[in-house]
Amino acid sequence: MEVTLPQMLFARERRAGEQQALLRQYNLPLISFTMNIAGPEKDTPLIRRGFQEGCCMLKEALKREKMPVVHQQIRQEVTGCEAFYVVQGNSERIKSLCAKVEDSCQLGRLFDMDVLSPRGEQLRRQTVGRQERGCIVCGAPGRGCASRRVHSVQELQQVTQRILSDHFQQRDAQKIGTLALRSLLDEVCTTPKPGLVDRENSGSHRDMDIFTFTASASALAPYFLQCAAIGQDTRTQPPEHTFQALRAAGIQAEQSMFAATGGVNTHKGAIFTLGTVCGAVGRLWTPELPCRDLKKILEVCAQMTKEAVEQDFSAMRASGQGVTVGQRLYLEHGLTGIRGEAAAGLPSVEKVGLPAFCKALARGNSRNDAAAIALLHLIGAVTDTNMIARGGMKLAREAMEQVKNLLKQNPMPKPEQIRQLDRAFVQKNLSPGGCADLLAVTLFLHDWCSQEA
Ligand SMILES: [Zn+2]
Repeated sequence: MEVTLPQMLFARERRAGEQQALLRQYNLPLISFTMNIAGPEKDTPLIRRGFQEGCCMLKEALKREKMPVVHQQIRQEVTGCEAFYVVQGNSERIKSLCAKVEDSCQLGRLFDMDVLSPRGEQLRRQTVGRQERGCIVCGAPGRGCASRRVHSVQELQQVTQRILSDHFQQRDAQKIGTLALRSLLDEVCTTPKPGLVDRENSGSHRDMDIFTFTASASALAPYFLQCAAIGQDTRTQPPEHTFQALRAAGIQAEQSMFAATGGVNTHKGAIFTLGTVCGAVGRLWTPELPCRDLKKILEVCAQMTKEAVEQDFSAMRASGQGVTVGQRLYLEHGLTGIRGEAAAGLPSVEKVGLPAFCKALARGNSRNDAAAIALLHLIGAVTDTNMIARGGMKLAREAMEQVKNLLKQNPMPKPEQIRQLDRAFVQKNLSPGGCADLLAVTLFLHDWCSQEA
C-alpha cells in the first residue's frame, strides 16, 4: 500500500511525541530505529523482515556490550516500522554501537538507528568517529544526491529491493548449508546404530571411524551451501535445470569427500539425497520467507529428479549391464534404490523416518535416542541396496526381518536392544548406509520445517 505525504508527516509527528514522552519518563538515552526506504511504499513483507533483522542485530549488540534495554516498543504501520529502545548506558557509546550495526553489512545501509541523549539531543555519526553515510545508489558522500534528487524513486527502490533480497538470499543459504552439515554430524553421532559407524564402534567397517565422517562432513559444508544457492539462483527455471546444476556440483563434492577421507566413501549417498533436498529448499525460497512446508519441499525433490532418474534407468535397461552395484540390483531385481526414492519425493522420509522421529521425541526420548529409533524404522521399511551390496540379498532380507520383529514387539527399542542388533549386523558384515542417509535427511527436514522464519 502506498502512503501519502500527510500520513508520513503524521507518523513523524507522532514519533517525535513518543520520543519526548519516553525521554521524560525514563531520563535515559533512547534509540529510535526506522528503515530508510525510498518511495511511497514503506511496508512490505520484505521490508518488515529487514526491520526485524535490524532489531535482532541491535539487541544482540546491546547485549554483547552489557547495556540493558529497560523499555522497548515496536510499531508496524503502513508508514513503516518503528522501534524504540530505552537503554541504560552512555549516549555516545550507544550511538557508536548503532553506527557499527549500520555499517556492519549492506543491509545496515537501510537502517536508521537514531540515538537521543536523555536531554533530547540527537547524536551524529561524526561525534563517534563515523562518516556520514553516502548515497545508497552511487555511493557519493553525504546527502548531495538525495537533496538534489539525482536518482529516480524507481532506481532507489530497485537498489533497496536488491539489498534486502541479497542479504536474505545469502543468509538463508548459509542456514540451509549449516543445517545440512549438522544433520550429517548428528547422524554419525547417533549411537548405537546397527552395523554403522557411531560413537561406540565402527560397525561393520574397517576402513573408517567417526573421524573419517567428521572429516568428510566438514569437507562437504561448502557443497550444501552451494546446493541451496543453486536452488535459489535457478528457481525461475524448470526443475530439471536445477538438478543438472546440482549434479555437476555433486561430482565436485565427491572429489572433496574422497580427498578428505583418503579415498573412502562416507557420504556419496548423502551428497545426492541431502544435496537434492537443499536444492529443493533453495528453489522454494523467496526473500520474504523461506519455505518450510514439508510437502512442497518433497514435491520439488520429485519434480527435479524424476526425468533424470528415468533417463538413468532407461539407459541401464538399454545397455543391459550394470557397472555399479546399484545398477546391477536394478537390472536383476528392479530395485531403484535412493534414486527411485528421490524421484518419488522421498516417501520413506515422509512416511517412516519423520513420523518415527517425531513420535519418539514426543515420548520424551533424547535427540540421540529418537534418531536411533527412527533409523531402525527406516531399516525395517526400506530395501537398502548398501545392505545387499555387502551381505547379499538373503542376509539383507533376514536382517530386515529381524529389525521388523523387534519393532513389532517394541516400536521404541532401548539402546541395549539396538546394541544386540549391532552385534548381529557386524557378524554378517551388514551396514545400512542408505538408511543412514535417509536418517540425515529426516533430521534435516525435521529441524528445517520446525524452525521459525
Ligand atoms: Zn547517488
